[in-house]
Amino acid sequence: MAHDIIVIGAGMVGTSVAWHLRDRGANVLLIDRNDPGQETSYGNAGLIQREAVFPHPFPRAFSDTLSVLPNQRPDIRYQLSGVLRYAPKLMAYRYFSAPRRWHALANQWAQLIRSCLDEHQRMIQAADADDLIRRRGWLQLHRAEESLQVELAQAQRAANEYGVEFEVLSPEDIKTIEPHVNTRVFSGAIHWKNSWQVADPGGLVRRYADDFIAQGGAFKRKRVSRIHQSSNGHWQVICGTERLEAQQVVIAAGPWSMQLLKPLAYHFPLFPKRGYHWHYQPIVERTLQHSILDADNGYLLGPMNMGIRLTTGAEMAPLYGPPRRGQIQLCERIARDILPMGKAIEPQPWYGARPCLPDMKPIIGPAHKHDNLWLAIGHAHQGFTLGPTTGRLLADLIFKQTPFVDPQAFSAQRFKSFGPFTC
Ligand SMILES: Cc1cc2nc3c(=O)[nH]c(=O)nc-3n(C[C@H](O)[C@H](O)[C@H](O)COP(=O)(O)OP(=O)(O)OC[C@H]3O[C@@H](n4cnc5c(N)ncnc54)[C@H](O)[C@@H]3O)c2cc1C
Repeated sequence: MAHDIIVIGAGMVGTSVAWHLRDRGANVLLIDRNDPGQETSYGNAGLIQREAVFPHPFPRAFSDTLSVLPNQRPDIRYQLSGVLRYAPKLMAYRYFSAPRRWHALANQWAQLIRSCLDEHQRMIQAADADDLIRRRGWLQLHRAEESLQVELAQAQRAANEYGVEFEVLSPEDIKTIEPHVNTRVFSGAIHWKNSWQVADPGGLVRRYADDFIAQGGAFKRKRVSRIHQSSNGHWQVICGTERLEAQQVVIAAGPWSMQLLKPLAYHFPLFPKRGYHWHYQPIVERTLQHSILDADNGYLLGPMNMGIRLTTGAEMAPLYGPPRRGQIQLCERIARDILPMGKAIEPQPWYGARPCLPDMKPIIGPAHKHDNLWLAIGHAHQGFTLGPTTGRLLADLIFKQTPFVDPQAFSAQRFKSFGPFTC
């Protein structure tokens, strides 16, 4: 049976796109080589980040670059092969992170973030997933007074301009709401009040996918090897020996998206930013009430159904580069000083890649060289937050309805004539 639309990739982004398309009555097939929510959307820190109105810039200060070089920092690491492979993309990322450009981009990016809670809420309610959501915000803990003050200035701007809610906490305040955290090393914290924490990120994607199927959507577990457009304009989605057909196709394959797009002559500068996680047994009941970021060391501890999940910052590594445990082991040593934790639950850490683009914004919209091919890729640090928002925006565009945010800023066209990236 030919489908109206095939969505490739059942992470948070693809599942949300499929859900919105089905919600508008389309006959949709969602395809993934795994069950829904098993890859990046499983392994993240599980924050629905209403506070993330400023995208993550490339660290531009010379002192930052120097301190990264010995490859010993807890927050940023690299594998030389990754830096060499992605060098032009990283240079472009640095270019877009210059303050003037970054401010302009942040304004566009924030238009997406603004609606993340409402868009998740609609799907949470439909999928009966409220038991996975904690609406208490999360804590950004600072050791250095200086870094706290810098972040507070940003927080104030986020509050004034974009409706972010926060509260400043003293070490004593932190102790009242997180009694097991060693607050002696912290000068204070920012409590992001209107962000949410998910106790099982992969589980939330599965609930959304289950609801999509309950509403009449279809899911197939298949690896897509390539797609091509027939002379009648329909798309053939080739999964080994099986060929599936649809009028329209959406690529939402996260960090692997270029494997399907390059053969169609698209060369978007997508690059991976790796992160690791590991779960630890909680030692005391109700060990953490909130996720906590040790901001000066760049790792996060989150209370999950599976245990305390420690997630790391970035490692610049090739998508298929070998795992390196140094960064997460260092973070674990630091973390044990601020929170009592039991043994690691899994024998080795999980790792996955944030799908990034140099201008820190995703591509959401039509692919410009083909009809009826749509893209939802490159959500970097906030794809878990932005899946439902992306689903709504892409459904608006596919159904030719007035989009609820200006889609121009997220168009694939913007890479058509940028430097080495003629896409
Ligand atoms: C350590 C870490 C912490 C993070 N924390 C947060 C956070 O707290 N909040 C937040 O908002 N974001 C966070 N992120 C970012 C977020 O996880 C990603 O942006 C998001 O998961 C990307 O979703 P996606 O659906 O695009 O990709 P994915 O979840 O990777 O989904 C892509 C899917 O495509 C499938 N696929 C790929 N190729 C094929 C193929 N050829 N055939 C069939 N299927 C295919 C894959 O199997 C996969 O299921 C974090 C990321 C990391 C690594």
